[in-house]
Parts: sequence; structure tokens; C-alpha cells
Amino acid sequence: MTPDTVVIGAGLAGLTCALRLTEGGCKVAVVAAGAGSLHLGGATIDILGYDPAVVTSPAAALGSFIRSHPGHPYMRVAPSLWAGALEWLRARCEPLQLTGSLDENLMLPTAAGALKPSALAPRSLAAGDLGSGGKLALVSFSALKDFYPRLAAANLNRAQPGPTERVEARAIDLHGTVAGEADPGTLRLARAFEEAAFRDEIVARLKGRIEPGERVGFPAVLGLHRSPEVVAELAERIGEAVFEIPTLPPSIPGMRLHALLNRALRKAGGRVVMGASVVSSASHNGRLEAVSTDTGSRRSSHGARDFVVATGGVSAGGVTLDSSWRFKESALDLPLAGVPPPGTERFCADVFGSHPVSRVGVAVDEEWRPLDADGRVVYNNVRVCGATLAGAEPHKEMSGNGISLVTGYAVADAILRS
Ligand SMILES: Cc1cc2nc3c(=O)[nH]c(=O)nc-3n(C[C@H](O)[C@H](O)[C@H](O)COP(=O)(O)OP(=O)(O)OC[C@H]3O[C@@H](n4cnc5c(N)ncnc54)[C@H](O)[C@@H]3O)c2cc1C
Repeated sequence: MTPDTVVIGAGLAGLTCALRLTEGGCKVAVVAAGAGSLHLGGATIDILGYDPAVVTSPAAALGSFIRSHPGHPYMRVAPSLWAGALEWLRARCEPLQLTGSLDENLMLPTAAGALKPSALAPRSLAAGDLGSGGKLALVSFSALKDFYPRLAAANLNRAQPGPTERVEARAIDLHGTVAGEADPGTLRLARAFEEAAFRDEIVARLKGRIEPGERVGFPAVLGLHRSPEVVAELAERIGEAVFEIPTLPPSIPGMRLHALLNRALRKAGGRVVMGASVVSSASHNGRLEAVSTDTGSRRSSHGARDFVVATGGVSAGGVTLDSSWRFKESALDLPLAGVPPPGTERFCADVFGSHPVSRVGVAVDEEWRPLDADGRVVYNNVRVCGATLAGAEPHKEMSGNGISLVTGYAVADAILRS
């Protein structure tokens, strides 16, 4: 089949856009080099966490944030689309029981023991919300090298979610091998938690060690595809609420979300070609006609009426920076906005601080079409969404998945209206 739309990229932005287009009656093909950032960063939809102080209500803060950040991707999202995008995702990911809203950020514990403001999160993560403080027991597997509950508990004990709210956290160590392995990794553990015998062993090892009223936090490994049942069973048997904290990559909650969207897209009739990097393109009279992908074994050409670039930002390879300070949009070599001059300091001391490189991306018009340095549309039938867009500082703002969800949704809306 010749698709109506080719979406380049299978991260949250690309999958959202592709699924919504497919549901709207378009024939869609997704071509993607890899799985994208969801496998790295977790499944929380952070709309706006800092501006620059912590944001308690994204709905209340977005208006002034957009006014004071001209050129930010949120500027182009019609007000009517925000709530719709969140509800759309909630309905597509029903097994994850996405919890939260635009009105109030959850305050979720991180693996480092910070509190992260998130608008929407799978219920297994949202159950750890510390907006009102609380008592936590964080379970550690000494064999799992990617999660340090002692550090998390020590930092959480210094956290102050509000003027009167307090967090009391402690770590419970489960020493020894896990599932027969000395160095299991999050994926191995997630699979082990889907086995009844392994859950029996964990419940037995925690017996008598949880105090009444303590919520029990695990690294986010409580099942790969059956997490709601695993969490519910553990909570019932332990007798207290159970929640998950995202670990270092790979992110099991992100894999769950990615798998659900991928499956929904294929079920709706969308085609997904993974391992396919876009390496060249053909255009005529201001319209893109086809992109060529290289899968290692062969090259293929993909023509369509419309194209969507959802290739991610600097951290995912959608925008690259070489040692000669040359920035490049990796799929179509689109013009990039916000490129800082050569000699700009490459590093900043604060990992969540402000750095001009994070704002580098593709500038777009009100129809999400890419613009050159003079503000002219580069291709009439190409639209851009997600972390490829210029003007945001997702790590500083805590807006990464929020941008990808709402702009992927908005780009599909623009194509369906065209
Ligand atoms: C470690 C880490 C932790 C994070 N934590 C959070 C968090 O807690 N909360 C939050 O909201 N955000 C977080 N983020 C940010 C968030 O994950 C991203 O901003 C967002 O998911 C980006 O989605 P995307 O679809 O725009 O791009 P991506 O998910 O990066 O997807 C890009 C897609 O394009 C493909 N691609 C790239 N180049 C090509 C090409 N030339 N040809 C074909 N395909 C190509 C990639 O393979 C991939 O499929 C984190 C990011 C990282 C890296």
C-alpha cells in the first residue's frame, strides 16, 4: 500500500501522531531507526514542572509560561487540544490506568530521592505521589545495580512537598541473588515478577518488615506487560499500598507505554518499520515526495502525500552535533533554529540547568511546517513534532513527554483538517 502519511520516528510523538491519524482514517507507515526515548526515560507525562519554581498546576501556569517563552512548541498548541490529548492517551493506555490531570501535578519520588512534578503517570507510579507527604519503605535488591533506595530514602527525608507535609522514608535491603542471578538488570527482574514463585519469595522476605501505614516502593520492575495485576497482588498480600519508582535506563514503565501504543497502532491498521533510518529524500516544487530508509540489509523508498518528522532531539539522535560544532537534523537535514555560536561552552554543571543546545531544533509555522532562517516554509507537506521542535528546554522545564504528546496529537489534527 502507498500510505497517505509517512511518520519518521517511533517515540511518543511519532506513535501518538501515527495512531491518531490511523484512527482518523489515514493509511500510515512509521519508519524509525529505534524505539526512542520512552525506553530510557519513563512513562510520566510531564507537561510543565518548573517555571522556574515548581509548578503545582500546569493548567494555571501554561498561559503565562507560553507568553514568556515565545518560540516554545507549546505556543502553537490550540487551547482546545490540551485536555483532549491527555484524555486520548489515557483511553489508549487503559491497562496502565494513567492517573493525574492538567489541574494538579503529582509529586513523584525519583530514584535519586527528588520529587518530580508530573501531570500524568501510570497508576503504579502515581501511587507513590508525595504531594501530601507520607511514610515510605523502599525495597532494595542489592543485586540490582540501577537503584539505590538508601540514597533515595536519605534525600526524600529532606524533601518538603509542602509547608506542613513531611516524608518519612527508609530502605529495606533484600540481599543476595535475584531470580538466580547476581546482576539481573531491570528487564530480567520485571520478567521474574510475572512469575508466581518469585512473587511468593518476595512477599515471604518482606513478611514482618513493613510497618502499618507505610507505602511500599519498589524499583519500577513489577512486571513487564502484567504490571497492574502484579502491583495489585503484592499490595493485597503485603497489606499496604505498593508503588514503583523509575530506575536508570532501560525504563520498564516506558517500555510498557511504548508497547501499548505500538500494538494499538498495528491493530488500527498502521504499519511500523523498525530499524529503518532515513538516509535521503526526494522533493519537487516545495513538496517532499519520498524518503529512503536503510535497514542495513536494504534500502527502501517510501512515498506519501504527507510526512511527519518526529525524530527526537539532541539526546536521541534526531538532532546531531559533531566535534566541529555542526548541528544537523538527522532525517531531512531541515534548517535548525537556536544554534548557539561555535565556542559556546559544551557542558553545564547542573544536569537540569539551562543550556542553549537544548533549545536547538526545527522552527515551525502555525501548521507545524518547517521554516528556514528567513521564515519561509521548507516543504508544504512536512510537519514536525516532539523533541525535534525548537525552543524548549525539556529537562529544565520538565516538559519532555508533554511536548511530544501534545504536539504529536496537534500535528495529526492539522493533517486530518488539511
Ligand atoms: C534518560 C532520559 C530521561 C527522561 N526522563 C523524562 C521524564 O521523566 N519525563 C519526561 O516527560 N520526559 C523525559 N525525558 C524526555 C522524553 O523522554 C523525550 O523528550 C520524549 O520522549 C521525546 O519523544 P519524541 O517522540 O519526540 O522523540 P524520541 O522518543 O527520541 O523518538 C525519536 C524517534 O526517531 C527515530 N529517529 C531518529 N533519527 C532518525 C532517522 N534519521 N531516521 C529514522 N528514525 C529516526 C528514533 O529511532 C526514535 O524512534 C527523558 C529523556 C531521557 C533521554
